[in-house]
Amino acid sequence: MTLPTIDLRSDTVTRPTPGMRAAMASAVVGDDVFGEDPTTLELEHRVADLLGREAGMFVPSGTMANQIALQLHARHGDEVLVAEGAHCLWYESGAAAAIAGVQLVPVGLAGEVSPDQIRGALRPRVDWCPGTRALVLENTHNRAGGRVIGIAECRAAIVAAHEAGLKVHLDGARLFNAAVALGVSAREVVSDADTISVCLSKGLGAPVGSVLVGTRDHLIEARRLRKRMGGGMRQVGVLAAAGIFALDHHVARLAEDHLAARTLASGLARCNGLTVGTPDTNIVMIDLPADGPIDAGAFAHRAKSRGILLSVFGEFRLRAVTHLDVSLNDVGAATEMLREIAHSVFA
Ligand SMILES: *Cc1c(COP(=O)(O)O)cnc(C)c1O
Repeated sequence: MTLPTIDLRSDTVTRPTPGMRAAMASAVVGDDVFGEDPTTLELEHRVADLLGREAGMFVPSGTMANQIALQLHARHGDEVLVAEGAHCLWYESGAAAAIAGVQLVPVGLAGEVSPDQIRGALRPRVDWCPGTRALVLENTHNRAGGRVIGIAECRAAIVAAHEAGLKVHLDGARLFNAAVALGVSAREVVSDADTISVCLSKGLGAPVGSVLVGTRDHLIEARRLRKRMGGGMRQVGVLAAAGIFALDHHVARLAEDHLAARTLASGLARCNGLTVGTPDTNIVMIDLPADGPIDAGAFAHRAKSRGILLSVFGEFRLRAVTHLDVSLNDVGAATEMLREIAHSVFA
């Protein structure tokens, strides 16, 4: 008998729902490189509108959105401050160096960056110094465990950056998780960031894509950069339709993922040997004792043999992410099995 699999590795593992597939199948399309794909134009307007910006652009991935933003805000050799643990520092295959040609400097702690930390990290643009040009914030912050950066903190960092002459890009791959957790509109979360990217392929459950928004001028240049990077797509309305469907149907329900994550965390928190904080959103970080009998890889292997898939996030750290394709029941079952494993390992 094969065990049912409960895949908690990431919120990217979701499959398009029947309703989403129907929307994709009936999408009106055209050649988007010519600006003639009505469904893609609609998605871009929708996201720009939601975030209070002039224009938007559909891109194949959040990585490409971030790399285009870096190229908009900095030139080769410039320095860019990023919230510690940033996706563009950890998970974009060195693209910031290899493609955008910028030097990333991590600042702050666990996604939070204070005005003083920004001012303290500035470097002048003189012959022998790179010169700081931009700041990248991330909300929610993945490596900090889906942490929500509060509206006031976010705003203060952006104001300080602007005062120092920096541009600000907000990596909002999980921006709607932050908005739902805070109970505010996405527009409030993004404050005065110059550009913002949001992923449709994470908690929103679309198969592909991100949208980058900013001023009309930013977006004119962004389209050039996207084409240069090979991200110009043709009848891409079939994918944009999935994004529109996700915005219509999968935003408010993120609250269910957050509830499932809290349920998982509280079920595991009382387990010997596991250290689990209370998640802000849909990501649960599970820490094992560094001097303990099992490392994260071996724990994940045991979980897998019971049908539970987790991500290894460090030698003694695991990540579990809730999403559209796991129910509260699934999460309850996963919690029980993970508790059993912990009991047997840490007895
Ligand atoms: C997933 C993610 C991205 C983009 O990832 P892609 O897989 O390239 O779409 C960017 N930033 C954060 C914080 C993410 O979690």
